[in-house]
Amino acid sequence: GRYRSGPIRKHNWSMSTTSVKAYEYIVLGGGNAAGYAARQLVEKHAIAAHKLAVISAESVAPYERPALSKGYLTANPPARLPGFHTCVAAGGAPQTPDWYAKHGVDLLLSTEIVKADLASKRLTAKDGSQYAYGKLLLATGADALHLNELGMAGAELDGIYYLREIAEAEKLYEAMKANVNKHAVVVGGGYIGLECTAALVANGVRVTMVFPEPHVMARLFTPQIAAHYERIYAEKGVSFIKGTVVDSFADEHGSGRVRFIRLKSGAVLEADMVVVGIGAKPRTALFDKALAMEARGIKVDEHLRTSNPDVFGAGDVITFPLKMYGNRMTRVEHVGHARQSAMHAVDVMVGASTEPYDYLPFFYSKVFNLSWKFWGDTPPNAKTIVAGEMNPKLVAVWIDDSGHIVGTFIESGTEQEEAKLKELARTRPPADMERLEQAAAAKDPDG
Ligand code: FAD
Ligand code: NDP
Repeated sequence: GRYRSGPIRKHNWSMSTTSVKAYEYIVLGGGNAAGYAARQLVEKHAIAAHKLAVISAESVAPYERPALSKGYLTANPPARLPGFHTCVAAGGAPQTPDWYAKHGVDLLLSTEIVKADLASKRLTAKDGSQYAYGKLLLATGADALHLNELGMAGAELDGIYYLREIAEAEKLYEAMKANVNKHAVVVGGGYIGLECTAALVANGVRVTMVFPEPHVMARLFTPQIAAHYERIYAEKGVSFIKGTVVDSFADEHGSGRVRFIRLKSGAVLEADMVVVGIGAKPRTALFDKALAMEARGIKVDEHLRTSNPDVFGAGDVITFPLKMYGNRMTRVEHVGHARQSAMHAVDVMVGASTEPYDYLPFFYSKVFNLSWKFWGDTPPNAKTIVAGEMNPKLVAVWIDDSGHIVGTFIESGTEQEEAKLKELARTRPPADMERLEQAAAAKDPDG
């Protein structure tokens, strides 16, 4: 009867028009934390095929980001993918896209998530595709801070380089090769500034570094440690302009390419290229309203759980309690933390760990043929002693108000020496001041 009288009308259910791919676990991000999280899920927890997706805005599988300012720019031949995909730093073979395919991990590259609905547990990509998760690990990392975001005149000109992702490393590499015997200005005296300057110099580019602090790596190095490195850089022809910042950039004859760098001090520098490393900003925008935040990062507890029970976090983007230091909330932008927190968050997420995350801060860098490592803490009123105890190497310790060793530093240490210093930073024994002061007096670090 009446049901046959006309064509059958289909309801246009809005839900059925978009296909949603569902996963038990999604790792959002394709950087260092994501690579180590995927490995942990596959190798430790033997996750079944197609239960895990790794979603990354980058076009290549997760890689060891630290290589971008080191081997990528300076090795001969330079490091290139697939050689430094994660998790080569953990001694494994590089996890190429084949590795993900072989283990049934859906690696969704060039897929930027633009919307996260934590109530319906869905992520939406730029192209409209949707992904549902049971549990979500946030590993969105950080972006380089750009000078145009600070509204600086001329910051959009060509010839100004930043370094965060592989495409930028390639552009910087090309620029370096095109500017041999020419002149670069490096803005910032932190990690990027120092490592990129070393790479530029190694490639025959002359460098002037400009930064606001009285010496390089001001947040970590003591004046004495900084002087040691500044001397090494100066011997390689690097000059320093300290205590000022860039005011604006300008081109020449409307070329659209940076040529003049005006400083707040009034001085104007000329250069053929500029590299900027003025810090990073955590990528939290998708979650600013949905999750608790602290100190510019996504707040997690000692088990790396966010304020949403199905969402966990790892790496540069989280603010977490440092168990060693009375659960002081902190954000760490270093790869050791990215790797360890990712593996720990995975263990918690799959229900395999109830231990708190117990990270010993660890920072390192490699410049020229030198490498240094630091473990522990640098309280603002710490006493520092640069001791030549393991001479001729540069060794330093940080001692807190109560006379305990809290931080340790060594340049080009042996495995044994490094293990010893790491242990001191972890166990924080009372400092033997007499011995330390004797060692310091006996040897000037640069002597
Ligand atoms: P990242 O590695 O930044 O990865 C974040 C990922 O998330 C990226 O793939 C990004 O594309 C993706 N993503 C973000 N938002 C979205 C979205 N909405 N949708 C899809 N994908 C998204 N640390 C050290 O300790 N030692 C070093 O020597 C060292 N060298 C470094 C050299 C360079 C050039 C740089 C830039 C950093 C270096 N670091 C070093 C820092 C270290 O690399 C970082 O701490 C580490 O990469 C952080 O890992 P992460 O996974 O948290 O973030
Ligand atoms: P850093 O925070 O290490 O250093 C930024 C430097 O730029 C500081 O000296 C800062 O001074 C200075 N600065 C800030 N604003 C200005 C300005 N307007 N003009 C000139 N200088 C300015 O950040 P990077 O950019 O070097 O590194 C970016 C990220 O990459 C960080 O997360 C870092 O940890 C990571 N990275 C780590 C490496 C490693 O661990 N070996 C190597 C390379 C990168 P101030 O302190 O006063 O703000």
